Amino acid sequence: MKVTDLIKNSSVPFTSIEIIPPRKGTSMETLFAELEVLMRYKPAFMSVTSHAHERSVEEVDGKKVERMKHKRLDTNAICIAAQSRLGVEPTPHLICRGFTKDETEDVLLTLHFHGIENVLALRGDGPLADAQTAASFVNEHASDLVEQIERMNDGVYLDPVERAEKTDFCIGVAGYPEKHFEAPDMETDLAYLKKKVDAGAHFIITQMFFDNEAFYRFRDDVARLGIQVPVIPGIKPLYKKQHLEVLPRIFYTKIPQSVQDSINRFDKEEDIHRAGIDSTIAQCKDLLAHGVPGIHFYSMSVAKPTSEVLNGLMA
Ligand code: FAD
Repeated sequence: MKVTDLIKNSSVPFTSIEIIPPRKGTSMETLFAELEVLMRYKPAFMSVTSHAHERSVEEVDGKKVERMKHKRLDTNAICIAAQSRLGVEPTPHLICRGFTKDETEDVLLTLHFHGIENVLALRGDGPLADAQTAASFVNEHASDLVEQIERMNDGVYLDPVERAEKTDFCIGVAGYPEKHFEAPDMETDLAYLKKKVDAGAHFIITQMFFDNEAFYRFRDDVARLGIQVPVIPGIKPLYKKQHLEVLPRIFYTKIPQSVQDSINRFDKEEDIHRAGIDSTIAQCKDLLAHGVPGIHFYSMSVAKPTSEVLNGLMA
C-alpha cells in the first residue's frame, strides 16, 4: 500500500522505521532478528537507506584501474526479502549520486515487478558521476529523480517504448527543518523542497532534529508555501554521550542545551542510555501533542533504543 494511503487509513499516529543495510558479510539472520523485534510495533512502512558505490584506484598488472565497490548489502534485496518475510511495506531509498538514469530505471522496474509501491528519492552525498558520464544521463538533484520516477508513472521511459507499462510509485523526499547544509538560506532550501513536491513527490520525511520548535517553524513554512503533502518528522533515539558530538557534526542539527545537560549529568552507561531515551520519549510526546501524522525512527537497524522509545510512548 502507498505511504499516503497508509497515513490516510491510520486512525492513530503511525510509526515508521528506517534501517541501514548491514555491511557485506553480515548474516541476513542477524538483520532479521533486529527487524522482527521492530515489527512488534507494526510500523506502517520500513525505509531502507541506499549508498553510493565507493570508487578506488588499484594497481593490476602494473596498471592503475578504477574499482567500484559496495560496502553494504543491497537495499532493494533487503526490501524484497522484508516484504515477503515480514509483511512490512518497504520503502527503498534511491539516490542520484553514483547512479545513471538508466541504472535507476532498471532498479525502478525491478521494484515495480516485486510490487513495491513506495520509494524515497534523494540526491545522496556520494561522489559525482565520473567525467565520462554525460550530465544528461545522471540526475543532479532529487527533483530530477522525482521527475524521472513520475515520467515512469506516466509510462514514459528513457528510450521510447510503445504502450510501455506505467509504474505507480508513491514518492517521498527529504526535508530539512534546520536547512540543508549547502543551501544559502532557509527560503532557498524551501523553494527547492517545493520544486520536489511540484515535480510529483507525495510525502516528506525530515532530517533528524532535536529541537521541536525548529520542526514546527518548518511545518508552518511548508504550509505557507502551499505544500500540502504530509510532513513526517524523523527522530533519532539518543542513548550515547557520543551522539551529542557526532550527530550535530554529521547531520548539521543542533541539540538543545537542556537535552545535552540531561544526558551529560550522568557517567554510568546505563544512566546515560536511560536519560537519552527519556529525552527522545519526551520529544516524541511533544510532537504527538502537536498533531504530527506519525513518527519516522532512524533505527540504524538496532532494535533496542527505538523499541524502548516506543514502549515509553505506549506506557
Ligand atoms: P536535494 O533535494 O537535491 O537538495 C540538495 C541541496 O541542493 C540542497 O541544499 C537544496 O537546497 C539544493 N537544491 C535542490 N534542488 C536544487 C536545484 N534544482 N538547483 C540548485 N540547488 C538545488 N543519503 C544517502 O546517501 N542515502 C540515503 O539512503 C539517504 N537517506 C536519507 C533519508 C532522509 C529522510 C534524509 C533527510 C536524508 C537522507 N540522506 C541519504 C541524505 C541526503 O542524501 C543528503 O542530505 C543530501 O545532501 C541531500 O539530499 P536531498 O535529497 O535533500 O537533495
